Amino acid sequence: MLEFDIVPAPRRSAEERAALLGDPGFGRVFTDHMVTIRYADTKGWYDARLVPFGPLSLSPATAALHYGQEIFEGLKAYAMPDGGVALFRPEANARRLNATAVRLAMPELPEELFLRAVWTLVDADRDWVPTRPGQSLYLRPFMIATDPFLGVRPSSEYLFAVIASPAGSYFAGGAKPVTVWVSEDYSRAAPGGTGAVKTAANYAASLLAQAQAQEAGCDQVVFLDAVEKRWIEESGSMNLFFVYDDGGVPLLVTPPLNGSILPGVTRDSVLRLAEHLGYGVAERPYSQAEWRADAESGKLRETFACGTGVVITSIGTARTKDGEFTIAGATEGPVTSTIRDAIVGIQRGLAEDPFGWSRRRP
Ligand code: PMP
Repeated sequence: MLEFDIVPAPRRSAEERAALLGDPGFGRVFTDHMVTIRYADTKGWYDARLVPFGPLSLSPATAALHYGQEIFEGLKAYAMPDGGVALFRPEANARRLNATAVRLAMPELPEELFLRAVWTLVDADRDWVPTRPGQSLYLRPFMIATDPFLGVRPSSEYLFAVIASPAGSYFAGGAKPVTVWVSEDYSRAAPGGTGAVKTAANYAASLLAQAQAQEAGCDQVVFLDAVEKRWIEESGSMNLFFVYDDGGVPLLVTPPLNGSILPGVTRDSVLRLAEHLGYGVAERPYSQAEWRADAESGKLRETFACGTGVVITSIGTARTKDGEFTIAGATEGPVTSTIRDAIVGIQRGLAEDPFGWSRRRP
């Protein structure tokens, strides 16, 4: 078994840490350590280390910098009420990283090594797991192609790393319903492309649409399918749910995993929790026209987005080039809050965990 070499970092003082944890925002503050593991076609995975967080030294010819052979994951560690720490479904992230690796012609990382890498960092930087309500330690595993070679072909060497960043609330506005911009000019992903995996290119392709959304006064962008520009796909970093009432029972509709949508861990958790709560669920194509018509008629009760960063956020208003529409008066509905409370309860150890999703350490 590959063992981790430990190179302890100089630790920041408790005062400095407390100041940074007061309002960490998202993705700006990093912990004392990082994990790195190297790969070569000739050796497999080797040289696993826990080292001080700091710059990587790379040749300017590094393949990842030129052709975008980069993949990543995102998951969170939560402080438990008993002083322990928990990861939420980390095996799902390990599996998705490998699905992404296969699509990008990169080597798979054994699931066991992914989990040990993440835990090695969390154990070393336990003091950085924030304990205030809503806060967590965001973990960012990623892998880059490191061949110093400008030919267009899969690299023969890679670096896998995990860094950690204390996180407050994802949107500056907190848990208020957000406004989204439906992008008709730009697509995020196409059939046969890389939309179903977590690779840098998808996010690079989404930035201009996200900038347009912000110019239009919106918090997030919603993408349509690339072919017909008709079907709702997902948001920039969240999957979408549309809540109906089916004879007194909530019905949750979400676009199917058609190959251009990221299979969110939160999406899967929402589907399973909804069934557990006795709600109906439907994974089916959902059009922009249906969304608007049902919001305007009042048939649509709620819309929410979900992802690791935000967990669950209500969508109150959708804006397009042809104007905007609101969903249920732009106030958060009861199904959205019930689902959020159920997931957050499991993640933070405040509720029973019927699916055994939480991976805890004392
Ligand atoms: N869609 C996209 C494009 C994302 O980047 C994310 C965040 N990983 C999600 C959906 C939600 O996935 P998860 O619930 O696993 O965070």
